[in-house]
Amino acid sequence: MNAPLIDPFARAIRYLRVSVTDRCDFRCTYCMAEHMTFLPKAELLTLEELDRLCTAFVHMGVEKLRITGGEPLVRKGIMTFFRAMSRHLDSGALKELTLTTNGSQLARFAQELVDCGIRRINVSLDTLDPAKFAEITRWGRLPQVLDGIEAAKAAGLRVKINAVALKGFNEDELFPLVDWCAREGHDLTFIEVMPMGDLGGEDRLSQYWALTDLRARLAERFTLTDLAERTGGPARYVRLEETGQKIGFITPLTHNFCESCNRVRLTCTGELYMCLGQEDMADLRAPLRASPDDTGLEQAIRAAIARKPKGHDFDYSRQAIAGQMTRHMSHTGG
Ligand code: SAM
Repeated sequence: MNAPLIDPFARAIRYLRVSVTDRCDFRCTYCMAEHMTFLPKAELLTLEELDRLCTAFVHMGVEKLRITGGEPLVRKGIMTFFRAMSRHLDSGALKELTLTTNGSQLARFAQELVDCGIRRINVSLDTLDPAKFAEITRWGRLPQVLDGIEAAKAAGLRVKINAVALKGFNEDELFPLVDWCAREGHDLTFIEVMPMGDLGGEDRLSQYWALTDLRARLAERFTLTDLAERTGGPARYVRLEETGQKIGFITPLTHNFCESCNRVRLTCTGELYMCLGQEDMADLRAPLRASPDDTGLEQAIRAAIARKPKGHDFDYSRQAIAGQMTRHMSHTGG
């Protein structure tokens, strides 16, 4: 174990979110254009490079690794990577290995994920209506995802559903979603939609459904108790007293979580972002590829963490944030 990563504001970096691919088998309208140009393969980190990078972070004190994308489970050979990462769980260096997925490949991979030491996963699901699901994901089919979630549950994985709150789209499904999660034993978190620039003609602003409003509607039916629980990220939780359910709210554009921020994000090309709301990043691919020895890589990581800002402003250009999101899509989902 090397010296831990501590930023200039005395925050220890314990959480790394890693996008392993920019590709996805869905085309959610708020996330991607239907006809995407993906990165050339040479730009992407190989699975071995991802391993080296994640391992370097684990050796510097990262305890929680969340794998995301794109859709992580469509990356060829990704199970080799999960299996390799499980050695850090076995050694005790890593406390949690987890992923955020659209669920399409879970029926195939759930058991293997469990075998790799994964205990909890986040599945993104915005609607329980098959027609609306096909509309919002363009290429996704609801039964496939529900089967995947079922398989995950059967394999013993704890599932958290992440639903993007979309005005005029799933407003009417607030209670059906809450009730379904209660019946199935899934946790549930709502995500405020982020403006993502022009993704092909959708009117993004009209999709914005403030979570304050969603919360007020929940309070019409349930007694809400705020929970003190913090994960270091942009999520806040309440308990519904009538059912005992925990409901999360992720509002990426607010900055009330900066003080306890313990996380950084790595893109599938090896760019390290130190803050959700700022464009500053460090290229880790160059030092990674420059030498098989990790000395230069470690120096580059430490230099990057030394630049982690105190926080980001709500005023920070939404467009700039959106531009960043479009590139690596690894901002939300717990
Ligand atoms: N493919 C995986 C999945 O579907 O969970 C991981 C990547 S996906 C980009 C991660 C999360 O970001 C999903 O929950 C997705 O709904 C959310 N997301 C994508 N675009 C968003 C946007 N414009 N605003 C808010 N959340 C968004």
